[in-house]
Amino acid sequence: MKQKKFLLNESEIPTQWYNIQADMPNKPLPPLHPATRQPLTWEDLAHIFPTECCKQELNTTDRWIDIPEEVLEKYRFYRATPLVRAYELEKALGTPAHIYFKNESTNPLGSHKINSALPQCYYAKQEGTTNVTTETGAGQWGAALSYAASVFGLEAAVYQVKISMQQKPYRSSIMRTFGATVEGSPSMSTRAGKDIITKNPMHMGSLGTAISEAVELAMTTPGCKYTLGSVLNHVALHQSIIGLEAEKQMEKAGEYPDTIIACFGGGSNFGGIAFPFMRHNILDGRKTEFIAAEPESCPKLTRGKFDYDFGDEAGLTPLLPMYTLGHDFRPANIHAGGLRYHGAGMIVSQLIKDGMIHGVDIPQLETFEAGILFARTEGIIPAPESSHAIAATIREALKCKETGEEKVILFNLSGHGLIDMSAYDQYINGDLVNYKVSDDEISKNHIGA
Ligand SMILES: *Cc1c(COP(=O)(O)O)cnc(C)c1O
Repeated sequence: MKQKKFLLNESEIPTQWYNIQADMPNKPLPPLHPATRQPLTWEDLAHIFPTECCKQELNTTDRWIDIPEEVLEKYRFYRATPLVRAYELEKALGTPAHIYFKNESTNPLGSHKINSALPQCYYAKQEGTTNVTTETGAGQWGAALSYAASVFGLEAAVYQVKISMQQKPYRSSIMRTFGATVEGSPSMSTRAGKDIITKNPMHMGSLGTAISEAVELAMTTPGCKYTLGSVLNHVALHQSIIGLEAEKQMEKAGEYPDTIIACFGGGSNFGGIAFPFMRHNILDGRKTEFIAAEPESCPKLTRGKFDYDFGDEAGLTPLLPMYTLGHDFRPANIHAGGLRYHGAGMIVSQLIKDGMIHGVDIPQLETFEAGILFARTEGIIPAPESSHAIAATIREALKCKETGEEKVILFNLSGHGLIDMSAYDQYINGDLVNYKVSDDEISKNHIGA
């Protein structure tokens, strides 16, 4: 019988994260203070983020960083996650390619975001913080943070974009089940929220409003820290556990990936699976190809510019060097909520600039077609975000069918889609459409100050 799943014992779970910043041929440019335009120090960031995360953010020298024992203990609740050979998908495509996926959907929250929520809450607790806050769109990050806060005995306050709260009610139920306070943003609980509501009582919220509220809460509440689930370097660091496990599991499968694929929102699950393998390209001359799959409606990697830009719509964050569509770019309301972000993380942006990663953009309907084929062959209903990785994998596997190449393709299944079933209903009913962005729509937005 052919082996389908490659597992690790608890004792084989990696005990250190991999920091690709130490090995990058060109380090990421520094984030800048928006007023002075001087490079930020970790002390600047520590006003709102846990101190240890700030140090990790700017650490360009240590290749390996120990995972705290308390975090490892919580990782063992759901790690190692399985590496799976997708034989049935291969058969349905008639491809000679070998397709593997790393299944990050098996934890209680259903996505990879928990891998960073746990250390962020652990470090916050260590520093004497009592409360954490964040914003969430579709709700995966808010759910992961709520769980991690409850694990480490912190109070969590989550600002969820009001419209998303109405569209995906079960995610706020999950957050409340883990004890978090969930506010629809804009809310009346912050000055920023009140100002927005006073101007526009019917405002349905955006990530921009929710970030403003969460940051205000962290800055005005003693003992409260802000957390972020993507984009930043320390988040990609924590997610490296995905690729480090996959490396050991591919070894058990007796293969090494020629191509690695993940969907791309801010870059954390992509970096998580890609960077540990990329170190062998940098250090050992391997030639693995890395593909980041983004939505056609939010094409920062394929059509954005590399420049300093704000991380949020309101322009409150530091200036970050990144591929961006402009901080006021408003992506269409696609179902892959986690991929509706205007910029790419700083590490990935530098690696794209250096030609080590390439982006592909995928229309919404192609992602649902891919997700449904995956569900019917491999038995897992993927998150709409993850379906971008599946669609890109299918494109590569079909190229192999033409050329006869037996490539080894590894993709990351970042989450399951069981809270997104209304999106599947809409697709099956023929109610979904593609959203291609025109050059005009892209050029009218603003990059930087
Ligand atoms: C948030 C999310 C993403 C996108 O975020 P990245 O930081 O780019 O990984 C992708 N998939 C799922 C399931 C998510 O919840």
